Amino acid sequence: MIEMFTGQSIYDFQAQFGTDQKCIDALVQLKWPNGFRCRNCDYKQYCKTKKYGARRCCSCGKVESATAHSLFHKIKFPLHKAFMMLYLISTTKRGISAADLHRKLGLNERTCLLFKRKAMEAMASQQIYKMTGEVEVDETFVGGKDQNSIGRSKGTKKLVVIGLERSNKGITRAYARQIENAGVKQLKPFFEDHISNEAKIKTDGWRSYKSLKKKYKNLSQSKSNKGKNFDVLHRFIMGLKSWLRGIHSSVRDLQAYLNEYVFRFNRHLSKGNIFNILLKRMVNFPPRTYKQIFNVAEFNQQVQHKKNPFG
Ligand SMILES: [Zn+2]
Repeated sequence: MIEMFTGQSIYDFQAQFGTDQKCIDALVQLKWPNGFRCRNCDYKQYCKTKKYGARRCCSCGKVESATAHSLFHKIKFPLHKAFMMLYLISTTKRGISAADLHRKLGLNERTCLLFKRKAMEAMASQQIYKMTGEVEVDETFVGGKDQNSIGRSKGTKKLVVIGLERSNKGITRAYARQIENAGVKQLKPFFEDHISNEAKIKTDGWRSYKSLKKKYKNLSQSKSNKGKNFDVLHRFIMGLKSWLRGIHSSVRDLQAYLNEYVFRFNRHLSKGNIFNILLKRMVNFPPRTYKQIFNVAEFNQQVQHKKNPFG
């Protein structure tokens, strides 16, 4: 039984996952927690193959490697470096750019960018736990020159709806989604995916929220007063925007970056487990190619011009 990593120390991490074999052992355990099962014929018995960690079905002969059918699928660089990337991405407070990963790990920058983006896919909310109790919702613009404007004319900026759950400990969870406009058709799915019907929701006076009162009985509206009545939410928004401005690569795919920010933020009270959660999601997430993640032209551009539209 492989122990999962619960520390913060890079030395402990290196001791636990410093070789490809140790990483494969961890993947095998996460992939087949209840023992092997053939994907092809559902048979439970397997024989080992030459490739470490791979298993051959004793019935149909199909071989499955430890990395197959996950975000590690067909990985072309040492697995222990991929694990180190996940460690740095998940445990560094403000995250780490592909350029920094490239410098620290001695891998090609494109390789780092693609793998980081795969990790960001795995970081997207699974929408299992809805926010409940006291919840605040508002929208904000990101990008463009006038980031601090309050109001709902979009211009060239991107609109993001943000919801957070509060307790006496402060913010316990938050979610953010890029939306086309502040209409009810855009806001409602965000509510449905992330907020429980019983939550005590607070929004500003915007009319789209008014129409959500039918479904969310405990929704109350009050004047924003330029954000002053939503000070905790607005501090969260400032933190998010400052993080986006600090990213030194194009963040055209804003949603992926929102997912990354929120993933780490939502685990600030349980930091010890964050690497394990990310690793487990990587194992359970279907493979993605770079063509699926980036359109090819955009991918080249991201590597060549590290232009920050939020700067
Ligand atoms: Zn089989």
